[in-house]
Amino acid sequence: MTGTEKTIAIVGGGITGLSAAYFIQQYIKQENKPIKLILIEKENRLGGSILTVEKNGFIIEGGPDCFLSEKPEAVQLCHHLGIQDQLIGTNKGVKGIFILSNGKLRELPDGFMLVAPTSFSSFIKNPLITPRGKLRMAMDLILPAKKSEEDESLAQFVTRRLGKEVLEKIAEPLVAGIHAADPKTMSVKSTFPRLLDLEKNHRSLILGLIKRKKIFASQEPSSSSTMFMTLRKGLVTLINALANSLPSEIIIVGDRVVEVKKKSDLSHYILRLEGGRTLAANSVLFATPAFVSAWLIKPIDHRLAQELSSINYISTATISLAYSKKSIPFSLNGFGFVVPQI
Ligand SMILES: Cc1cc2nc3c(=O)[nH]c(=O)nc-3n(C[C@H](O)[C@H](O)[C@H](O)COP(=O)(O)OP(=O)(O)OC[C@H]3O[C@@H](n4cnc5c(N)ncnc54)[C@H](O)[C@@H]3O)c2cc1C
Repeated sequence: MTGTEKTIAIVGGGITGLSAAYFIQQYIKQENKPIKLILIEKENRLGGSILTVEKNGFIIEGGPDCFLSEKPEAVQLCHHLGIQDQLIGTNKGVKGIFILSNGKLRELPDGFMLVAPTSFSSFIKNPLITPRGKLRMAMDLILPAKKSEEDESLAQFVTRRLGKEVLEKIAEPLVAGIHAADPKTMSVKSTFPRLLDLEKNHRSLILGLIKRKKIFASQEPSSSSTMFMTLRKGLVTLINALANSLPSEIIIVGDRVVEVKKKSDLSHYILRLEGGRTLAANSVLFATPAFVSAWLIKPIDHRLAQELSSINYISTATISLAYSKKSIPFSLNGFGFVVPQI
């Protein structure tokens, strides 16, 4: 670190650390700034939770397998990196999500968006929700919107608007499939702000979703965009493109940051790596899981560390199985199925 040159250290080489490095590097180049960048990743590979394996002709994702096109940043990043031709959507001929109910796979009613129906005819005929549960759901059409801005759990929100049966049979398994979390512990404000907007703007979730569906239907359909997008050769393509866009000498892999200290004159931070190296940096960007950031930040900011360590993490396992199509005696017209706890 020279007198005028500043150093930014990024801890963690998952998608967060790599995309931060990419945009900082772009800024340094465009503005010709005297900034040195360094990224430290503890594993011998980059990508963090993103791990794609190619085996026997299969592209297997060990972590995430797609991103939501509605949140445009990931698609935009692919365009920045020039890998937009690798983007693929879901198979348009296939639709349907199944829920295991009373020992049978039942299809989520056609037109179901998020947690509420937008097509009454297919919903009424669908056996997933009991007649009593359907009546409770219909109360969403007349219930007033909540006045207070106070946050509530996703479970409280869904039960308040649509009833307990929708929570247990639909919201809980779908949310567990996406967030690997229990709706009782999830803030609706942080995880599904769109549901709150629907209630605020339309009072009823069902009416709001029907209006949204009409707006979407009237819009020019994008030729390739579907709700979920991924990359032809797996999400590792994004990781490789990000890594290749960065000068190799700024990336350290296979060494863990074990301590971050502020220099006594407060001029910069000192990062100590497990392998024995020390690095000086003016700014440190933590792109690590919250509990790791908490542990590293504790000597610098005790309160922030406490807040970070209050974020709960759970472990997940991904098992990939492949079957010959011939050995499945029924139609495979669906994305998959989820299993409710009840
Ligand atoms: C099974 C699974 C499926 C998922 N499916 C989806 C999906 O389909 N769509 C979606 O959008 N999201 C999905 N997610 C979530 C998504 O994968 C994550 O939100 C995202 O990958 C997190 O990226 P990150 O860079 O913030 O963190 P991470 O990927 O956790 O990266 C953090 C990095 O920091 C490194 N590190 C940790 N400690 C240190 C240290 N002391 N020093 C140096 N390096 C350190 C780690 O090795 C790691 O590489 C899924 C997650 C999982 C686990």
